[in-house]
Amino acid sequence: SPSRQRILVTGGAGFIGVNLIRKLLQNGHRVLNFDALTYAGNLSSLGECESHENYEFVHGDITDHDLLKSTISRFRPERIFHLAAESHVDRSIKDPLRFVKTNMLGTATLLEATLDFWQDMGKQEKGHFKFIHISTDEVFGSLGESGAFDESSKYFPRSPYSASKAGSDHLVAAWRETYGLPTIITNSSNNYGPYQYPEKLIPKVISNSIRQLPIPIYGTGSNIRDWIHVEDHCDALLLISEHGEIGASYAIGGSDEWSNLKLVRELCKILAGLSDEFPEYPALKNAVSGIRFVEDRLGHDFRYAIDSSKIKRELGWLPRWDSEKGFESTVRWYLQNKDWWEALAECNDSDRRRNK
Ligand code: NAD
Repeated sequence: SPSRQRILVTGGAGFIGVNLIRKLLQNGHRVLNFDALTYAGNLSSLGECESHENYEFVHGDITDHDLLKSTISRFRPERIFHLAAESHVDRSIKDPLRFVKTNMLGTATLLEATLDFWQDMGKQEKGHFKFIHISTDEVFGSLGESGAFDESSKYFPRSPYSASKAGSDHLVAAWRETYGLPTIITNSSNNYGPYQYPEKLIPKVISNSIRQLPIPIYGTGSNIRDWIHVEDHCDALLLISEHGEIGASYAIGGSDEWSNLKLVRELCKILAGLSDEFPEYPALKNAVSGIRFVEDRLGHDFRYAIDSSKIKRELGWLPRWDSEKGFESTVRWYLQNKDWWEALAECNDSDRRRNK
């Protein structure tokens, strides 16, 4: 097992970051979480980890070069996991410049601050250091009925979100090629699991069902996504940070494709099945009646799928969750943790009203 390391995580108060930091602390590492605490950042999701002796938090924006530089030179990370980003496609359609600023300018600023630090390192430390950039399969655009994205897929982003993430991938690759910074890029499919902000599809279906609000489905619900449990994604990131090849990229997916409509119906079925266990939520029994078809998202990508053969073959990664178990345990988590999501869901409802 890997020795104890100093690991800087950007965006560690977000959905994937929280799940990753929990794992890193369990594995005995020292973690510095650098996060701006936007609407999507929630330190309370870290629970008891917040007071762990190996954990520290710096409240900062990844576009702040001076703060990044001083934080990095003080903490001297051996690994950086870069997750901080604006992550919601719908928000990117309403406010694209914010996405360009955080995802592209922020990533470039972090790369610059990291490079300054890395160039001053001793030879041995230099060879040991890794910068892992966490990106999405959405940078590859949209698939037809068949085929899957892999590491050789062409970039063809189609939303302001995916374009800004594609831009960030290119910046990371450029700092590798131009300055030799030891970077690795990961492109993962849609994650699900605990602590996901309730604006995203799966927590929204669950939280709206409990609150007897409509469950919106874009268009006809025929768009297809490949889902991966966030723990499987985090396991992949840990393996990559230990054994991944510098300069390479890795596609990570659950190989678990669902049309949005089929997924929402499945979640409603699970909710109904749990209704006896959660009598405090009477609406669960008939959750399916909440489904409403709404006007399609602009430029809605039809299908994403990932071929993860490379990471399976080269690093021995295997997802441990199948969707049957994963969806049920996730639904149960949201039913048991209403306190965590309720206020967030309400503030998201009012955001939406304001935006109309
Ligand atoms: P999230 O929106 O839940 O969390 C993002 C975090 O970044 C928040 O804590 C937020 O406060 C922080 N942040 C935002 N702007 C910042 C800034 N300017 N400076 C510092 N911190 C800032 O996102 P997530 O779902 O956890 O995704 C994490 C990363 O993984 C993102 O880069 C995303 O593109 C990528 N990704 C996500 C998925 C998915 O399905 N969720 C899939 C593939 C890749």
